[in-house]
Amino acid sequence: MITRKSPFELERMRKAGEITRLILGRVAAAIKPGITTQELNELAETAAKEYGVTPAFKGYQGFPASVCTSVNDQVVHGIPGPRKLKSGDIIGLDFGVVYKGYYGDAAVTVGVGEIAPEHRRLLEVTREALWKGINAARAGNRLSAISRAIQEHVESNGFSVVRDFVGHGIGQAMHEEPQVPNYVSPLQRYNPVLKPGMTLAIEPMVNAGSYQVKVDPHDHWTVTTVDGSYSAHFEHTVLVTEGEPEVLTQIKACGREDGGVVQW
Ligand code: MG
Repeated sequence: MITRKSPFELERMRKAGEITRLILGRVAAAIKPGITTQELNELAETAAKEYGVTPAFKGYQGFPASVCTSVNDQVVHGIPGPRKLKSGDIIGLDFGVVYKGYYGDAAVTVGVGEIAPEHRRLLEVTREALWKGINAARAGNRLSAISRAIQEHVESNGFSVVRDFVGHGIGQAMHEEPQVPNYVSPLQRYNPVLKPGMTLAIEPMVNAGSYQVKVDPHDHWTVTTVDGSYSAHFEHTVLVTEGEPEVLTQIKACGREDGGVVQW
């Protein structure tokens, strides 16, 4: 069942989304050559305490950290550790919080120092694909309109859309119905009409090479591309309304400006 949130619930989700965005922006702004992924995780945990929210990922199905840090050919679910970032790397940060029982979820991929033009293009196309998906999240559209908008943009730019991981409904749980694929499949029978009050985490994962991915057999979390190509990931939590989609993981209501310089 896809839940439609009440105004009371949406106030909490707006706050959860905004705090998610503030913290993630701050972590993204700290990225520089030499910093470790563990240090980025500590920044997020310190900020979460400051805002009085619970990091959503820590302990989720046993995940050991608060931020997923996915470097270069890592697609999603990278585990923070002693790895030092170096100029030319790209790093995906995925972070979420729980605020008064409601979830926010967002992700951004940024370059470390100077990155190659083809990697800059990968980041740009993935970010654009996210916004194409957001723009399709309108009452009256079917769910597949989001998937199609993302896939068309990615593939027309020569990149590929990851199949094995998808976006999701979000609310009182981090993962609610429906799944939100970033590609259209003729096998997908479930294709509901979007209605006001639905809240979706839209999150294209885009590979520079083939769409095939694998899970690290040792840590059971880190997803990498099979061909070693670089991968990017952007995500926002979005509310379907009667009109324009409302991006909940943006800085608005509380007026704080410490979300960092990284925009997506
Ligand atoms: Mg998500």
